[in-house]
Amino acid sequence: MNKVIITVALNGSLPTKEMNPHVPMTPRELGVTAAKCQESGAAIAHVHARDSDGHPTLDPEVFERIHAEISARTDLIVQISTGARAGTDTEERAEPVRRIRPEMASLTTGSMNFPNQVYSNSFEVVERLAAVMKDSGTKPEMEIFEAGMIENALLLVKGGLAEPPLHFDFVLGSRGSQPATARQLMFLSESIPGDATWTVAALGRWQLPMGILAIGMGGHVRVGLEDNLYYRYGEPASNEQLVARMTRISEESERGVATPDNARRMLNIQKVPQ
Ligand code: ZN
Repeated sequence: MNKVIITVALNGSLPTKEMNPHVPMTPRELGVTAAKCQESGAAIAHVHARDSDGHPTLDPEVFERIHAEISARTDLIVQISTGARAGTDTEERAEPVRRIRPEMASLTTGSMNFPNQVYSNSFEVVERLAAVMKDSGTKPEMEIFEAGMIENALLLVKGGLAEPPLHFDFVLGSRGSQPATARQLMFLSESIPGDATWTVAALGRWQLPMGILAIGMGGHVRVGLEDNLYYRYGEPASNEQLVARMTRISEESERGVATPDNARRMLNIQKVPQ
């Protein structure tokens, strides 16, 4: 079976050190944590940026520093978030991708509710972000919060704004969108093109069981403090701990984990010379 690509979502926009002291906030902290995560078996680092007060920001210079810190210490594929929690202006969301031309970026292909915010991504916004990624040679990870978003991603291919094979991330268990159930994961994974790859990002206590299911089903796994702050009930996790647990399960399942270069080949990513 194909090797498991482990993505670590290091920080997100919302977690703070008060919630979990291991959340990396500064570019340097992100670089140091990323190195531990590569050591533990991760292939992709999904990152958000924070300003000096720890608030989410779209400042491209902060993203540049994060990209530099991670690339100096690791060979990980850096995946920049283009999510809207740090700001809703489309060009500001696109700017870090345009400037850095990272190997990957996240692309949510529709609108839904977050617990405290409407996450608005019109066709116009999605197409603009996809176009910038295409121009930058950046592979999108299609963030799927509802099944209809798969169809929206396929429309991007039809419109020449994304190139197959596509890579999907099924986000499960966020209040306001699809539930984290085996049936939902089965339905989503069977609803994408045959040449596409997929990973699962399940929130909170669902991160572990959905990750185990994905490993059994031939998919890939995202873990990390953006989605889940705990290793087990009441015990704060570190990113590298969550990665190491998925690595052990992947090894015991006879799949093994993908190195960053394995992942580049599997996702059809051309390595960007640093
Ligand atoms: Zn994210």
